[in-house]
Amino acid sequence: MCIIDNKRPAVFLDRDGVLTVEKGYVTAKKDMEIFSYVAECIKQIHLKGYYAIVVTNQSGVARGLFTEEILREMNNELIDRTGVDAVFYCPHHPEGKIKQYRCLCHCRKPETGMFEMACKQFNIDIEKSYMVGDRAGDIVVGKNLGVKTVLVDSGYGVLGLEQNVKPDYILDDLRNVINILE
Ligand SMILES: [Zn+2]
Repeated sequence: MCIIDNKRPAVFLDRDGVLTVEKGYVTAKKDMEIFSYVAECIKQIHLKGYYAIVVTNQSGVARGLFTEEILREMNNELIDRTGVDAVFYCPHHPEGKIKQYRCLCHCRKPETGMFEMACKQFNIDIEKSYMVGDRAGDIVVGKNLGVKTVLVDSGYGVLGLEQNVKPDYILDDLRNVINILE
């Protein structure tokens, strides 16, 4: 398909605690539990004219808890079952056990590398975009990018924040995000 697409904003989505049940490290596809409302929410996000793009830190790869291959299978499952446009992931960690992934990278949130990759692949109107996450790092990266930030309470919980951050919105879960999109 070769259609010249107009710029569209994106809703950037963290995975664990936003689309799936927060379980610490999910190490197998069968343990990735997608919230029942996600597919419908992604449909609504698309109807409102936004891309739905997942940006997820998965340092379990660097820690040797699961392989990048298994992570890719999980990503495909997530795309199939929810309709998100793409999944960008960071497998790295500076103290990882697996040498190949042990580094200080530019993709681990709150660094912005995954978002830059997304912008290369999709024609994104970043100024009108949103970042939705359940942790302080998600809000920090959203602020670094200059997008609107949404903290949802469906993962680690608003009271479990590691840093004092000021998101633009604090909402119960992804279903509430639909209402704030213009
Ligand atoms: Zn990385």
